[in-house]
Amino acid sequence: MLELTDVTVRYGQHRALEGASVKVAKGEIVVILGANGAGKSTLLKAASGICEGAVQGSVRIDGTELTGLAANKIVDAGLALVPEGRGVFPDLSVRENLTLGAYADRARDEENVTLDRVYSLFPKLRERGKQIVRTMSGGEQQMVAIGRAMMSNPTILTLDEPSLGLSPLLSKELFQNLSKVRDLGIGVLMVEQNAKQSLAIADRGYLIENAHVVHEDSAENLMRDPAVQAAYLGAG
Ligand code: ATP
Repeated sequence: MLELTDVTVRYGQHRALEGASVKVAKGEIVVILGANGAGKSTLLKAASGICEGAVQGSVRIDGTELTGLAANKIVDAGLALVPEGRGVFPDLSVRENLTLGAYADRARDEENVTLDRVYSLFPKLRERGKQIVRTMSGGEQQMVAIGRAMMSNPTILTLDEPSLGLSPLLSKELFQNLSKVRDLGIGVLMVEQNAKQSLAIADRGYLIENAHVVHEDSAENLMRDPAVQAAYLGAG
């Protein structure tokens, strides 16, 4: 279980996030929606220990406090991030990218077992093991990025705008893959612009406006909410 409690982030004088509390259980998909600049990426970065701002509050994974830990220790504690823009090494092969994802202490000893697990989750990555990532489509590269994050054996996988730049069809495939990750019992926390497709596979969601979490509900209720429809689902 990932628990952010009363997290505030300041960049200098600017408060990018204020008193945000978010929970993600194992085996559920949680989506964070909000306008540009609302503080969504800041929330994910604060959880992953890569935020440039001053972070206050508590981020815990299964009770272990993560705030103040170095980013690699946070990965060791079970939290993996697929950053915006994917963070893959374009000039390396699929297999090399995956192997580099196993740097965490929690994964290194079992690298081959983990690699097999990632390959059975995404068989295409096995078929394309030798392909240089730069030559792959956007959707395939996103799969490499998720596979790479999965190589650290996370209990919680976080993703910043994973569907950015993907066609609706490839986004659908991406979200189906995230459902497969959830089915392994992993908690998935993602920031998304694509509210319609992400809510369709999510269990719960949060809305962030002007640095505040303003609403939390089941994905089903959020999809039916007129305010959500007007702001994020292109209706109204
Ligand atoms: P987007 O969808 O545009 O990425 P977001 O909801 O993810 O938006 P954040 O990236 O979290 O928003 O940014 C929240 C606020 O903090 C914005 O006003 C942004 O300009 C500011 N901000 C983000 N990163 C920094 C930084 N490194 N230094 C200063 N200000 C920052």
